[in-house]
Amino acid sequence: MTKETTVCPRCGGAGWYKYDSNHGKPCEVCCDHGRGWWQLPTEGYGDHAGWWCCKAGCGEVRENHP
Ligand SMILES: [Zn+2]
Ligand SMILES: [Zn+2]
Repeated sequence: MTKETTVCPRCGGAGWYKYDSNHGKPCEVCCDHGRGWWQLPTEGYGDHAGWWCCKAGCGEVRENHP
């Protein structure tokens, strides 16, 4: 990819991509996380337990509420 490109390198501008042959997800690179956040349970998520996860489902997680 070059510096001139304005298209998201992850999803090609589609806003989502396939992470395997059967499943797609919102692109975490160009997701604006504008749908809000939900908190992961404090058990079962290892290092990310209790972290905040983007409601759009892009997979972005933050330790503190954004
Ligand atoms: Zn993208
Ligand atoms: Zn997001």
